[in-house]
This record gives sequence, structure tokens and C-alpha cells, in this order.
Amino acid sequence: LSEKTTVKPKPRFVRVNTLKTTTGSVIEVLSKMHKVDKDDMVPDMLVLPPGTDMHKHPLVTDGKVFLQGKASCMVAAALSPKPGWKVIDACAAPGNKTVHLAALMNGEGSIIACELNKERAKTLQHTVRRSGANNIETVIGDFLNIDSNDPSYAEVRAILLDPSCSGSGISTERLDHLLPSHSIDDQDDGGSSARIWKLSAFQRKALSHALSFPSVERLVYSTCSIHQAENEDVVSSVLPLASSLGFELATPFPQWRRRGLPVFDGAEHLLRTDPEDDLEGFFIALFVRKAAAADALE
Ligand code: SAM
Repeated sequence: LSEKTTVKPKPRFVRVNTLKTTTGSVIEVLSKMHKVDKDDMVPDMLVLPPGTDMHKHPLVTDGKVFLQGKASCMVAAALSPKPGWKVIDACAAPGNKTVHLAALMNGEGSIIACELNKERAKTLQHTVRRSGANNIETVIGDFLNIDSNDPSYAEVRAILLDPSCSGSGISTERLDHLLPSHSIDDQDDGGSSARIWKLSAFQRKALSHALSFPSVERLVYSTCSIHQAENEDVVSSVLPLASSLGFELATPFPQWRRRGLPVFDGAEHLLRTDPEDDLEGFFIALFVRKAAAADALE
């Protein structure tokens, strides 16, 4: 290794909110000032030069563009809910993925956005208002207390579960904003093994609970952690339950090269992103109910 390591500046990714505008019209506006490319994998994702500051841009303040990274956008895109579906976003605030789901569903169908923390639920509601989505119901409470056998959840076909995690894949300056520790009652510093252990115990519980909803066909589990304990280990621990309920792991973005750590058979289905990919460290697992996979082929 050379002694001088140069840090390659990361491109600025932004997501076009198709509930309010079109990708074409955003490109038209932005290309007057910047070089703009469409991302080759995630729909409605634009790539701007590193350092482009969009925070005060009217497209952003009007909710037409969201300053959301590519890895974060891969999560809702991996779930790929259809317009008209009933969907749960289990751990929703600040709501970036919730409103991305609404856009992917063309605002049709319904989304139940569950958030435990009252203060963060306010941010979620603000995000929802900014997006213009009108098919999102906010539920302030514990996802684990939602009764999956309650008839009001009988038609839920997709769940996005992006629970509290250590945030070890995210650059430190964004941590305060993104990563709550409210739900996990601990005093440890962010990276301690006791904290990771507590987080992973919660993540397993939440994932098992998500699998118990009777009509769910697609379920995404995601984190912005790089720790195996919060990622592959959580997924492998629920595999017997998942398989007994008819779920199997599917491969989100098959063209993506970086997959799960090879710690169990099937980890090749999992997706990891990494700073080496010019992205933050995210993890995505996609469960698909077998019957639904067979139906889709018919
Ligand atoms: N998906 C969000 C986004 O992209 O904007 C980020 C979610 S953040 C990683 C996790 C959220 O889950 C936090 O806001 C946290 O307060 C919430 N949370 C933690 N435990 C929860 C629980 N048991 N039920 C519901 N929400 C919970």
C-alpha cells in the first residue's frame, strides 16, 4: 500500500420525487448548472458531481427532490411494492424510505408508517407532508405490539423493516440525524459489543415479527451497519422460521457485485454496499413468499 491514500470524493446522489415531478423535468432544471447523469440501476436517481450543494435548492425545499443516497434508495426499490398494495414501513422515521415507497406505488394503495419515538414521528410527518403523498398513515407506537393477526393487517402484502442499528456504515456527521438510540435502552458507545448485541437481539425480534404477517409476499430487512451481527447473523437466525412460513431469500439487484458475507448457504442473495462502491455501508435482505414467487411466474 502506498503511504499516501487519497480519498476519492463521492458523487452526490439525489432522488426525484415522482409524486410531484418527473425525472425529465428535474434533469432539465439541474443540467443548466451541473453535469447530471441518471443512475444506471436505481430508477429516478440522479448523479451529480461530488460536493454539489443542493440543500437550499427550490427543488429540494419544494419536496420535488430528496437528498437521499443511492444505497438508501436501493432499499425501497428492492421491496418494489406495486401500486395499490397495502404496505407497512415498520420503523419509519425520518421517513425517507416511506415516501420513496409511496412514489414507487404512484401514491396508490396504502402505507402504514410505524414509529416508536414521538419526536421522530414528527419528523416523519413532516417528510410525508413535504413529499405530497396522501396514502400514508402514521402509527406512533411499537411495531412489535402491532398484532399481525388483527384483521386490519390481513391484507398487508409488503413490509419494509429498517430498524435501529449501530449506523456503522454511515459517515459520522450524519449519525446524529439518522440514528436514534431511543428504542434501545443503553448507555454504551455506538460500537461496543454490548450495544451491537442488544441491537441485534431487537433486530431478530422485529424481523421474526414481520415474517408473521399472514399475507406478506415481500419483506425487506435493511440496516446501515457493516457488522455481521446486525446483518447476515440476523438473517440466518430467522431462516428456519422464514422457511416454515414459506419464505425464501431472493436476490435484490442481481447485477450488483457485492453480496452478503459468505457465512451461510444463501448469503449470496444478500446485498451489501460499501464506501469502496462510492456509497455508504448498507445491507439488504429480501424475503419472498414462495407461493407469491410461483404466482409471479404464471
Ligand atoms: N427507514 C428510515 C428512513 O429511511 O428514513 C430510518 C429508520 S431508523 C434506522 C430506525 C427507526 O426505527 C428510528 O426512528 C427508531 O426510533 C424506530 N424504532 C426503533 N424501534 C422501534 C420499534 N420497536 N417500533 C417502531 N419503530 C421503532
